[in-house]
Amino acid sequence: MTDQAKRPRFLSGVQPSGRLHLGNYFGALRQHIALQDEGEAFYFIANYHAMTTVQDPGALSRATLDVALDYLALGLDPRKAVFFRQSDVPEVAELAWVLSCVTGKGLLDRATSYKDKVARGITPSMGLYAYPVLMAADILIYRSNVVPVGEDQVQHIEMTRDMATAFNTAYGEVFPLPAHRLDAGAKVPGLDGQKMSKSYGNAIEIFEEGGALKKKVMSIVTDSTPLEAPKNPETCNVFALYRLVAPPAGAEEMARRYRAGGFGYGDAKKALLAAINDCFGPFREERKRLAREPAYAEGVLAEGGARARAEAQATMRRVREAVGLPPMPVEAAEASSPRKG
Ligand code: ATP
Ligand code: MG
Repeated sequence: MTDQAKRPRFLSGVQPSGRLHLGNYFGALRQHIALQDEGEAFYFIANYHAMTTVQDPGALSRATLDVALDYLALGLDPRKAVFFRQSDVPEVAELAWVLSCVTGKGLLDRATSYKDKVARGITPSMGLYAYPVLMAADILIYRSNVVPVGEDQVQHIEMTRDMATAFNTAYGEVFPLPAHRLDAGAKVPGLDGQKMSKSYGNAIEIFEEGGALKKKVMSIVTDSTPLEAPKNPETCNVFALYRLVAPPAGAEEMARRYRAGGFGYGDAKKALLAAINDCFGPFREERKRLAREPAYAEGVLAEGGARARAEAQATMRRVREAVGLPPMPVEAAEASSPRKG
């Protein structure tokens, strides 16, 4: 058994396209943090990807720091996981180009996430269209085995396998084929019942608190079943969130109350608000402490970036050789210059 077979490599990213929300936590961050003990974890802040929706430079860099603070406050341990900014590894953009040359346009035409975003009014730029190619490059450049994500990203990982297969068929075996991994909160609904998304304006932020949090919880869309009537918890957005944040026994009790009748959506929302405070309250102080010393988070990202980049450069040496490109000029110069000393 090889080392990599014993310790799988996990890779995942989150875009700094806004404040992280409950969908990001239960679909992605929770499993990222749990998996850092089970293999080699590489997690990055996808700032190249966020440029598909954020075109304000200040907002992009602020959101990048915010994502870092969220992860660290929630338990990401930089001694266990390689945590970095996507743009600290510019080689990934080169690999995206290489992959795009073995990827049929028809594959990208089928991407549902692109269609959903365009339907929500996001500009259909080439970057948004080619998003799955950059994501495939992110996964493949670290030769990743498992990609822990939410359900909306599963199609992109299937596309990544297609791209890796196309590359390996054309140029010889370079990339392992990655698999996705889903958590229990693989598809968390937003305030409007659609997928909770940073860019859809329907999110409850992980670190929202006080009146702002209450206002959002109270605005979750429900149907018009009267208070006294029995209700179906399985089709209710409030219950879908409650079962994620509350302990299992609490969720069972609420489901029973829904079915019994005499329990209104207003009551369910109050219980949800309390459960969110119980679930994330303990992390808020740590988040505030980390925010007071941003140099720490910056240092973590810089160190992670250097480690990630060394991995990516090793893969790109193989890729360049496989496709018939010369080594990177700087590496070629190092190889031919006489040793100093
Ligand atoms: P954007 O609207 O900018 O695309 P987003 O909220 O969809 O932002 P991403 O950064 O695209 O968040 O995704 C980060 C991770 O969170 C991915 O693994 C994605 O699958 C997961 N995720 C996003 N939204 C949800 C959701 N509603 N339920 C479960 N997982 C989610
Ligand atoms: Mg998204």
